[in-house]
Amino acid sequence: MTSEALKKEGEIARNFDDIKSRIEKVAVKWERSAADVDLIAVSKRQPVALIQAALTLGHRHFGENRVQEAQEKWPALKEQYSDIELHLIGPLQTNKAKDAVLLFDIIQTVDRPKLARVLAKEMAAAGREIPVYVQVNTGKEPQKAGVFPEDTDGFIKECRDDLGLNVIGLMCIPPVEEQPAPHFALLAKIAARNGLSRLSMGMSADFETAVQFGATSVRVGTALFGTRSDP
Ligand SMILES: *Cc1c(COP(=O)(O)O)cnc(C)c1O
Repeated sequence: MTSEALKKEGEIARNFDDIKSRIEKVAVKWERSAADVDLIAVSKRQPVALIQAALTLGHRHFGENRVQEAQEKWPALKEQYSDIELHLIGPLQTNKAKDAVLLFDIIQTVDRPKLARVLAKEMAAAGREIPVYVQVNTGKEPQKAGVFPEDTDGFIKECRDDLGLNVIGLMCIPPVEEQPAPHFALLAKIAARNGLSRLSMGMSADFETAVQFGATSVRVGTALFGTRSDP
């Protein structure tokens, strides 16, 4: 290994320690257990060498936002490590649903009836029932994916009762220019009234606030791996 790669690996190890201790600290403060907060390392647009470094450290839960990029990076890694849990955290087109079902272990971005129907069909065809999250557009931003808050109860019901999807939680990405706390609180409220225990919320800039408001998964990229290359 080059000294440059070693240096980078050391940095990543320190970043993981730092993020985990910050999760621990905020969990204690809000009388939660840090063990109930899953750190998902977001490895989109990061080189495989850095993912390898995280795997070497023992980390196994990762998030990617594009099916095609994930297909290029993850099959080989999954062959090497049998206990990887790969989350799809980006928008999913229906024509990529089949590939997503075959590669990912959790799909966090179910956000419309057509996608839910195609996923149910592809899961049945593959004999692979993958847990899903419903993505909620808490800020009702026109350019952002996700169900509007007022439509979420009905959509969850449709996914569960009509399509038999295993909905385990809700996911959101608050508007960048707003305080995230009200969005996290809203997501928690919608989850509670639908009997959902899992909340995927919080990224590098706001994961501590997310833990305060009940996140069970935080999705952290740059704070672990550094700045990403351009898309
Ligand atoms: C990229 C991304 C993240 C990670 O963002 P960072 O700011 O790098 O931590 C989290 N969630 C989603 C949905 C993303 O696309």
